Amino acid sequence: MSSKKIDGKAIGQEIREELKEQVASLVKQGYQPGLAVILVGENPASQTYVKNKEKSSIEAGMKSELIKLPDTVSEEDLLKEVEKLNQDDSIDGILVQLPLPKHIDENKVIRAISPEKDVDGFHPMNVGKMLIGQQTFLPCTPYGIMQLLERSGVEIAGKHAVIIGRSNIVGKPMGQLLLQKDATVTYCHSRTNDLKSFTKQADILIVAIGMAKFITGDYIKEGAVVIDVGMNRDENGKLCGDVDYASAEQVASAITPVPGGVGPMTITMLLKNTVESAENKLNSRTKN
Ligand code: NAP
Repeated sequence: MSSKKIDGKAIGQEIREELKEQVASLVKQGYQPGLAVILVGENPASQTYVKNKEKSSIEAGMKSELIKLPDTVSEEDLLKEVEKLNQDDSIDGILVQLPLPKHIDENKVIRAISPEKDVDGFHPMNVGKMLIGQQTFLPCTPYGIMQLLERSGVEIAGKHAVIIGRSNIVGKPMGQLLLQKDATVTYCHSRTNDLKSFTKQADILIVAIGMAKFITGDYIKEGAVVIDVGMNRDENGKLCGDVDYASAEQVASAITPVPGGVGPMTITMLLKNTVESAENKLNSRTKN
């Protein structure tokens, strides 16, 4: 069996085209949505992510603001920058690129971002809202995966979804979003005994571990849908996922590649959250 490739690049592009139209319509009404990104230090991976976010928001027609701070910046000064952006009426989304230097408390910084501008969906208030199924900003990677599944016509209700990984930004919220769409959800992690006995039961298998090509075809049930969140380098320095694509695609009915699967969706959903934030603001103004 050769499986269908779930093309994150194409689906991401489709959503970005929709966003462009939404932004154009807001601009026509006299308002340009704005995304601000704070980058602390010189971490090369963070610099690349931030550059991509800036480029993508400009392509969508949005205002983009980058605030670069040295890695010696104090927590107090960083919090002041966040507060300035909270008060800035031209900014709808605030993102602080993680990780932060060790002397800064990441949780404190996340809590300082106004929940109305928390387009990463990391603020505890938004995490709580997501958990109880209220309208809020969803964390971008799991939100993007839901879009991949839905736009590829994957049935979720009644299916057994197995998630490997329980991080706050991927695994945990992923399970909650699938549960809300009526999947039966199992979480696995590094302390799970006999991982394969769980993955073999999965109709939908989400892999977010951070270990190159860890999940091979023999972990996968015939006909399962496999979503590979991992971003690793293989022995030749080439970008690869947590799933061994060559053996997995022999068994799966559909699978995301790396690159070109989940990756392009994450930034797309960040833009979508920012546009939604701008729309919320304008709607609340017309109501008042
Ligand atoms: P993380 O915080 O390091 O979490 C990894 C999870 O995998 C943990 O829950 C860990 O279990 C579990 N795990 C580790 N070894 C395992 C094993 N042998 N068997 C079963 N579970 C195991 O990572 P993350 O932030 O969720 O990211 C996961 C991967 O996704 C990384 O490769 C990351 O680069 C990638 N990622 C990609 C995107 C994207 O946009 N494409 C976005 C975010 C992350 P414990 O909890 O027990 O330690």
